Amino acid sequence: MDLKIEKVKESRIKEVDFSKLSFGRTFADHMFICEYKDGKWQNPTIKPYGALSLEPSASVFHYGQAVFEGMKAYKDDNGHVFLFRPQENYKRINKSCERLAMPAFPEEWFDKALRTLVDIDSEWIKPGFGNALYLRPFVIATTPGVQASPAKDYLFIIITAPVQSYYSGDVRVKIADYYSRAANGGFGFAKAAGNYAGQFYPTQQAAAEGYQQVMWTDDATHQYLEEAGTMNLWFRLGDTLVTCPTSERILDGVTRKSIIAVAEKLGIKTEIRPVKVTELIEAAENGTLKEAFGCGTAAVISPISAFGYKGKDYEINRPAELYTDKIKETILNIQYNRSEDPFGWRVQVK
Ligand SMILES: *Cc1c(COP(=O)(O)O)cnc(C)c1O
Repeated sequence: MDLKIEKVKESRIKEVDFSKLSFGRTFADHMFICEYKDGKWQNPTIKPYGALSLEPSASVFHYGQAVFEGMKAYKDDNGHVFLFRPQENYKRINKSCERLAMPAFPEEWFDKALRTLVDIDSEWIKPGFGNALYLRPFVIATTPGVQASPAKDYLFIIITAPVQSYYSGDVRVKIADYYSRAANGGFGFAKAAGNYAGQFYPTQQAAAEGYQQVMWTDDATHQYLEEAGTMNLWFRLGDTLVTCPTSERILDGVTRKSIIAVAEKLGIKTEIRPVKVTELIEAAENGTLKEAFGCGTAAVISPISAFGYKGKDYEINRPAELYTDKIKETILNIQYNRSEDPFGWRVQVK
């Protein structure tokens, strides 16, 4: 890949208060952009972050041919910069692309583009748990014309945003008993833009009732718990951590996968099996539900303090010693180069 680099004349970093960042609103100096036309990816360029110019008929605006990824770059106390299992994201965006009839982006290009971009804007990454550069690769269809067919032209772009921890506190979630986020044969497993647009309305309804997130259930019966917003779900039932199997309705999260491995290393028993809504309610009532949490790149782990189902709320009475804390600390230590990395997940950029 012949990567062209145009740097900003002057960095905007001095204008940014890193102690008052709200998630994903401030962007670093540069972005990566690459065009797909005439059947191939071309003109890979790093240039100043800025507006795009697209025709109003560009197909992304009409048919939602768009996918994305979410990753982070971390800095240790010696100024070294790391990515966490980036190969997983390189592969996953191409799975998403395939399902939306979009061309794959070469993994080696993705890797070089990401490393170069992170290196150029590494001043934007502050050390310390929670501080990171959030990386948002995405692909959009740009061919002009309102014909409902796959586009011929695309843009692959990476923008980056300095962030602190994502969620401020514990979340109350509402279990979906009517709406669905994904269906069999659909594209729930893909990080496709449309999956999120469809969640906003039910999540707004839940917010009006005092919940921060919706805990999605299977579309056919609404009896099995699947995902929450942009996170995979975990429950501690007795002393076993349980998460549901991934499927074509569920996004195969890197954090979920990592928790499965970390829990095993910590000697925590895990089970990957379907979890029924009724099982969760029973466990909450008889006290065997000790923890519940969502997991994803943005927050690593978001503890769930209570859930609502059909108008009734169930509080989760958590013990003093939490699996959540141990697991989160283990993952953060690996991400921030404060411990050994027995899994080989850390990838040094600089
Ligand atoms: C991104 C995402 C997750 C979490 O995936 P990670 O790779 O752990 O960040 C879970 N569910 C959905 C729907 C997502 O979009």
